[in-house]
Amino acid sequence: MHELGIAQSIMQIVLSEAERARARKVLKVTVKVGELAGVLPDSLTFCFNLLAKSTIAEHALLTIEKVPIRGYCSQCESEFVIADHRYCCNTCGNKHIELVSGRELQIGQLEIEDETD
Ligand SMILES: [Zn+2]
Repeated sequence: MHELGIAQSIMQIVLSEAERARARKVLKVTVKVGELAGVLPDSLTFCFNLLAKSTIAEHALLTIEKVPIRGYCSQCESEFVIADHRYCCNTCGNKHIELVSGRELQIGQLEIEDETD
């Protein structure tokens, strides 16, 4: 399962960040997932919860933010959302567009409870 590996990398980052911030508990993790990253949110949540057991992230809430696929056309200098896999400019029809977003897989936000709370 592809999501397990992703959940493992996320968990590694979360735990090391939490440790650096001297967190007692991880409350919330937001992950930005591009539509092209091919990640199933349900499986990712499942794997995340599985790996979080017996760690300080055990009760953390995982929020998955979907990032739409965006393209850029250098002819019109415009940016647009690509829907239904139509990889061309929606103004001039140019097929040589650049992908601006949609492949990301990154941790957006991390909410922790630190020692002083
Ligand atoms: Zn264009």
